[in-house]
Amino acid sequence: MPERSNSEAIAPVKTPERLYLDHNATSPLRPACRDAMLDAMSAPRNASSVHAEGRAAKQLVEGARKSLAAAISCPPTSIVFCSGGTEADHTGILGFTRGGPKVRKLFVSAIEHPAVPAAAAKSGLPIETIPATADGIIDLAWLEERLSTYDQEAEGPFLLCLMLANNETGVIQPVREAAALARKAGGFTMVDAVQALFKVDIDFSTLGADMLALSAHKAGGPVGIGALVVTPGLGFDPLLGGGGQEENRRAGTHNVPAIAGFGALARDASVSDYQQLATIRDAIEAGLPEGVEVHGQSAPRLPNTTCLTAPGFASDAQLMTMDLAGLSVSAGSACSSGKVKRSGVLHAMGVSDEHASCALRVSLGWDTPTDAAERFLAAWTAEHGRIVRGRAA
Ligand code: PLP
Repeated sequence: MPERSNSEAIAPVKTPERLYLDHNATSPLRPACRDAMLDAMSAPRNASSVHAEGRAAKQLVEGARKSLAAAISCPPTSIVFCSGGTEADHTGILGFTRGGPKVRKLFVSAIEHPAVPAAAAKSGLPIETIPATADGIIDLAWLEERLSTYDQEAEGPFLLCLMLANNETGVIQPVREAAALARKAGGFTMVDAVQALFKVDIDFSTLGADMLALSAHKAGGPVGIGALVVTPGLGFDPLLGGGGQEENRRAGTHNVPAIAGFGALARDASVSDYQQLATIRDAIEAGLPEGVEVHGQSAPRLPNTTCLTAPGFASDAQLMTMDLAGLSVSAGSACSSGKVKRSGVLHAMGVSDEHASCALRVSLGWDTPTDAAERFLAAWTAEHGRIVRGRAA
């Protein structure tokens, strides 16, 4: 048999360039973060060791802590690195309810990421749900009314859990106002800011929150690294014990490469870059055919997120047809089974199950190309026309 060169054996397959529009699930790693991680991986890195390699590792961890603290205006010592948003939510809610002042009740918004109600349920404390309006904002009037009759003496301190920006709709929540109401009524506030980080300004020093949960991978940092930000002096019981890392607030050898990547993200990402994505998001929304509803469109939103419902075009059909067309989008929050589940967020906004079963989330990010709106609309409207108008014809 005649010998074949490699180039003959493996004919280059020309695949069309895919368009990734699912940054709220996870964002591709930024080159600056990858470089910082590779550099950190080039030597043994245990930040608790006293030798030269250990001291270099500690320097990376402390450098990242300072960069992140500067980005969100908090003291570096307020930052407790952990494995991501889910752990930060659990550490904040469970650590505080177990080790802080004797919290007796939780107020949890109806639109939280599932990590928050899951942690709240584990606390074993009574939970009151804060309803949401049709716009996807929590019902602040309901909260004000409820807290105006809250009997601090009889009912004890409480913890309010409210996200900064919703992962499905992108709607920004009135955290400052809610935290002020909570404080006035003798409560504390825990904020899940996982989707908001670097997409909108976060100033922990003036937000009024006692704790803030962060994750790096939604903005182009590494997966598997996050942080809980705590007000200085706030007591909490760490979830993990053993080593004395993070000032005894989170035991376990530091994930130095991921922390270095998180630090690089804090230096590389800018809110103004994300703000520019609103032009692409708005172009997508403006190009949608009549009858398509955009959820939370009149509320303040993250610049990168749109959540739409196209009656007659089921979410799973949208996902499949877009995937075949080379577009990665989502039906809402990605769940571990990969199946499309009913959205608790849309349900809380009063959207019917039938309507919610036709929802789609498009989320943009740091590497979204400028022609993303045209490409999305070309693929999506073609399939929408084929399925919805084809059925009507
Ligand atoms: N909180 C919100 C609002 C999220 O969107 C997510 C992830 O989708 C999480 C928490 C969980 O974060 P992680 O994936 O880092 O555990």
